[in-house]
Amino acid sequence: MASTGASDQSLRERASRVIPGGMYGHMRAAGLPAGYPQFFTRGEGCTIWDADGRKYLDFMCSWGPIILGHHHAAVDEAARRQLEKGDCLNGPTDKLVELAERLVGLMPHADWAMFSKNGTDATTTCVTLARGATGKRKILLASGAYHGAVPWCSPYPFGVTAEDRAHAIYFKYNDVASLEAAAAQAGNDLAGILVSAFRHDYGLDQELPDPAFAARARALATEKDAALILDDVRAGFRLSLHGSWNDLGVQPDLSAWSKAIANGYALAAVTGNDRFRKAALQLYATGSFWCGAASMAAALATIDVLQAEDGPARMRAVGQRFRDGVAAQAAKYGVGVRQSGPPQMPTILFEGDTDHATGSRFAFEALKRGVYLHPKHNMFLSSAHREADIDFALSVTDEAFAVIAGLR
Ligand code: PMP
Repeated sequence: MASTGASDQSLRERASRVIPGGMYGHMRAAGLPAGYPQFFTRGEGCTIWDADGRKYLDFMCSWGPIILGHHHAAVDEAARRQLEKGDCLNGPTDKLVELAERLVGLMPHADWAMFSKNGTDATTTCVTLARGATGKRKILLASGAYHGAVPWCSPYPFGVTAEDRAHAIYFKYNDVASLEAAAAQAGNDLAGILVSAFRHDYGLDQELPDPAFAARARALATEKDAALILDDVRAGFRLSLHGSWNDLGVQPDLSAWSKAIANGYALAAVTGNDRFRKAALQLYATGSFWCGAASMAAALATIDVLQAEDGPARMRAVGQRFRDGVAAQAAKYGVGVRQSGPPQMPTILFEGDTDHATGSRFAFEALKRGVYLHPKHNMFLSSAHREADIDFALSVTDEAFAVIAGLR
């Protein structure tokens, strides 16, 4: 079995004694093919180094947060300047106001913003606000969609009671009939419809939102006096700087943000419209670290750079270069692959590969040659990825395809 380097092994051994399972959650290397490192030391641009100094071209970007590249000079400088003045104080700094103004200016749907730390904070706040504002209970959500790791939404039922989910009703993403059936089931008790920016379920083909589905979700929420909640935690700022459904002409009432908004600094946000302003002031929303000013300074710098360089367009272009190259290689080697999702958040799955064995082999062959892919989850491009990086990745995937095709 492929093993990782000596430092990684030693850290795993120490971790196994003091950390349950050695590691928990989505960053467990146990969820990846053998040979993937668990521990890292450094990131710079689109390159990461593991605990043994092995270097990889990064196609995960820390599972989304790194949107301008690791260790981005302007963002780190903004955070450092704020840290020198103070980060965790008795209350917020001017950065809170400035960032709220910035988000409200960027998002056509938004009249206000609130901040927290993780995506789950933001999605949970949105759901609570929807219930508080409407005085109703039912939340419609797509089966298989990820919205966080707490009992109302965790994909794993361990420690979750039926009561935690008593008011969740599930529909199929992009399926208007199932959405309507779920709304009918909610009857007069519909508080909100929670949707991801696109279908990005683990291990499955991704699906962009069908405009008719998005429009129907909007109309249903309005008709039923419920909230349309867009979970933009994963896709936010990669597809658009104005909200991921803006180009569809559909505006949510509430949006949840986190991951990429501060290029790796811990920050989440909820943006909302005036219909929900009163509820937002009634809700007791708080956390010891939610006013941290350094991450807000980082977010302001991140937005500056994304706007100046048209980050979404850049990521889309390099993502498309990668996708086209992979498609050409798959055809050349006669290997069936399915590429899905927006090019800047690509998913590559193999035909007939229900147990992901081929995908895992492919990813491992790439890893050995210095490219860190994910065999099942959507990947993430950053604006630090250049054409030359994509060309290097493609030289590696060419070899990985040759292995899959049995030629090496
Ligand atoms: N919503 C979506 C769509 C996500 O992808 C995630 C994280 N993967 C979350 C919510 C939860 O975010 P966090 O892990 O920061 O709590």
